[in-house]
Amino acid sequence: MLADVILPTPLSDIFTYIVPMEMEQAIGCGFRVIVPFGTRKYYTGIVVALHDKPSSADLRLKEVYALIDSYPMVNEKQLDLWKWIAFYYLSPIGDVYKAAFPSKLRMESETFVSLSSSMMQESLNLTPTERKIVEYLEAVEREKISKLEKILDIKNIYIHIYSLSRKEVIETNQQIEQKFVPKIESFIRLNSEIDSNSIGSIIGKSKKQLALFEEISTILSKSKTDMINRRDVLKLPDASPSILKGLLQKNVLNEIGVEVGRLKPKSEIKTHRPFPLNEYQQQALEEIESVFDSKDTCLLHGVTSSGKTEIYIHLIDKLIAKNQQILYLLPEIALTTQLMQRLSAVFGDKLGIYHSKLNDNERAEIWQKMLSDKPYDIILGVRSSLFLPFRNLGLIIIDEEHEQSYKQQEPAPRYHARDTGIMLAHMFGAKTLLGSATPSIESYYNAKIGKYGIVALSKRFEEIEMPEIIIENTKELRRKKKMKSLLSPALIESIHHALSNNEQVILFRNRRGFAPIVECKLCAWTPKCRHCDVPLTYHKFRNVLVCHYCNATYAMPSECPSCHEKSIDLLGQGTEQLEEEVSRLFPEAKVARMDTDTTRGKNSYEKIIDDFEKNRVQILVGTQMLSKGLDFGNVSVVGIISADSLLNYPDFRSYERGFQLMTQAAGRSGRKSKQGKVIIQSNDPDQPIYRYIVENDYESFFASQLSERKIFKYPPYYRLISIVIKDKSESKADEASRYLADSLKSSLGDRVSGPNKPVIGKIQTYYIRNILLKTEIGLSPQKIRTLVKHAETILRKNQKFKYITLFYDVDPA
Ligand code: ADP
Ligand code: ZN
Ligand code: ZN
Repeated sequence: MLADVILPTPLSDIFTYIVPMEMEQAIGCGFRVIVPFGTRKYYTGIVVALHDKPSSADLRLKEVYALIDSYPMVNEKQLDLWKWIAFYYLSPIGDVYKAAFPSKLRMESETFVSLSSSMMQESLNLTPTERKIVEYLEAVEREKISKLEKILDIKNIYIHIYSLSRKEVIETNQQIEQKFVPKIESFIRLNSEIDSNSIGSIIGKSKKQLALFEEISTILSKSKTDMINRRDVLKLPDASPSILKGLLQKNVLNEIGVEVGRLKPKSEIKTHRPFPLNEYQQQALEEIESVFDSKDTCLLHGVTSSGKTEIYIHLIDKLIAKNQQILYLLPEIALTTQLMQRLSAVFGDKLGIYHSKLNDNERAEIWQKMLSDKPYDIILGVRSSLFLPFRNLGLIIIDEEHEQSYKQQEPAPRYHARDTGIMLAHMFGAKTLLGSATPSIESYYNAKIGKYGIVALSKRFEEIEMPEIIIENTKELRRKKKMKSLLSPALIESIHHALSNNEQVILFRNRRGFAPIVECKLCAWTPKCRHCDVPLTYHKFRNVLVCHYCNATYAMPSECPSCHEKSIDLLGQGTEQLEEEVSRLFPEAKVARMDTDTTRGKNSYEKIIDDFEKNRVQILVGTQMLSKGLDFGNVSVVGIISADSLLNYPDFRSYERGFQLMTQAAGRSGRKSKQGKVIIQSNDPDQPIYRYIVENDYESFFASQLSERKIFKYPPYYRLISIVIKDKSESKADEASRYLADSLKSSLGDRVSGPNKPVIGKIQTYYIRNILLKTEIGLSPQKIRTLVKHAETILRKNQKFKYITLFYDVDPA
């Protein structure tokens, strides 16, 4: 019998091994096995198929070394999902495995080195580095290579290890390391072999020991279990470590280690029934359910604070009653705190949380719990929770479905969690509910053409009015010398007003991770590419403007071509500066900042959100992080500083992003009691997009975008695949990418553009080239992938390009 196995390597193949006779009965798909790979390494792989198809190439097959499981750790639907991701996102299946499966459940072999018994090092000529290694090994006998490298601080240690083993000074061997560390705590129980009548005589005259013993036995006689956590024993009135030690020595008590697990039990939480829905919510709920009678996917387009979350809670409640599991996806870990509180108040310990700040052992435990006979009914989590072993998935909720952070950027697999979620639901015959106040152009389009159902909710909860949105013309204000700080006079005044009413304020400023964007300070003119309609990016080094998409370059103008002033400016000031300025303007208020810099720590999100909720902070300053789905009751003013910079992103989605960000940020205001106020500061307030935002007119905005997308061949009419080629030699990256582009053009014609040099043309000593494919929505993905893979194979046949780094970004965000 042969087994096909997925291994954690970026090689895209599945590997075949011989199953030893004695394992044949016990092995199955989805089981973990340990197999030899490469010259001396052992890895944990997952069995994906068992068969008897020996081929001539199988003569050199190796055997499965060990079978780890007696039941599947990965179920069939998960394996199907892995295969789909590998196919659709053109990603090696080994990378999908690495991303999907907890690293702690994947033991690997480690190479240990030790001095060889026949060592004759005196007679040998050792280099100083080699001598350093030998001296260390004399002291410790054996050590992992990875640890040696760290402790001795030797770069490229393998060269030295190899040389030492050739000189027969050292030996290497492999050992398989268990990675998952169960959490063990000490428990105390009575020694049942001792007759209770003889206890007194054994303990003797120590009154303290006798008292503690009696306290313990009283508790145990009333308890359902036969042991007490050592920590709890030490809290008893007569306890002390030495008294307990005495009892253990006399053997009337025993101490045992018990695996306790890291998942906090939430059974103590008092839960309440879901809140009753108002009539609009109730109607939306019924509409969603009727959409699901005929369609698998439904888009809930509900304005900010309309109570979408409450509708989700009702849906979840109904599905749990039918014994189905629910996956609730969020784009951002920052949102889990508030939602976890809302959901666990209703669902208690039926709810599990899965996100990137859990440690590896905690992830492994959640995985095992999902496999157990008491899995979570609901998982609330970020994109990677798609990979958990669900058994009976009935619904996937994708909240804030428009969010860009649903797309994985680095490393592979570069999957989109919304689209992958829809696929996963499909595999389970489950439904998907997409929710947003500002749907992505793609999803809204899919709803328009009838692929998805759509349900609208246009009233805020309690019918609080949508916030009043005011656009401040900062260009005009600057001309009249009225802009004395980053904040306009109207915004300053509104903030004063809010603070004096004991209300809170959110100030929002985009900080781009991109190279600088050029803009005219006076008229907000921004240079755009003639071929691609995206803003150009300034390259300081060459002093030119470059198009991110087609690599066309343009001279940097010395004056603004539109208003003929010498007022061209590079944009780029961040939230930090804003925080300082706000603190200076409003010394009476406490100011906090939320951005990637201030939220690194494990609980830093919770802390900032909690401080703001409890009104310990009055003004919160932050990046786009702040605009997403947070629910604060007391915010009456939201300010958006330098809004235009949101639109001048070098990307065909910049308007979509800008509309979403501003509408969402505005939605943070006036959520609970009265109408809120939003002030948007713009240098170019006449752009139609601001009218759409002020009037909350998604429909017109959508129509305007759609026509642009069609003209410039972007989604939803075309699918994009970006091919990235990297090499340390620029000429090699250049040559390979031209070769590949040419061969793709021969089959795909002008659907291929490039190769281009990206904005950032060199990262960490690697030169980068891009090729962009734009294919009509009707073309078969299978066909395109076959062509693309074929072109890659031919490229790699050339010895020179055999190992060149090449990856695909499908549907780049
Ligand atoms: P959305 O997700 O659409 O932005 P939320 O679900 O966060 O809106 O609702 C906004 C606010 O209104 C929340 O504080 C929520 O608790 C409250 N709310 C919404 N619907 C109800 C309801 N049916 N009963 C009680 N409170 C509700
Ligand atoms: Zn261009
Ligand atoms: Zn100008």
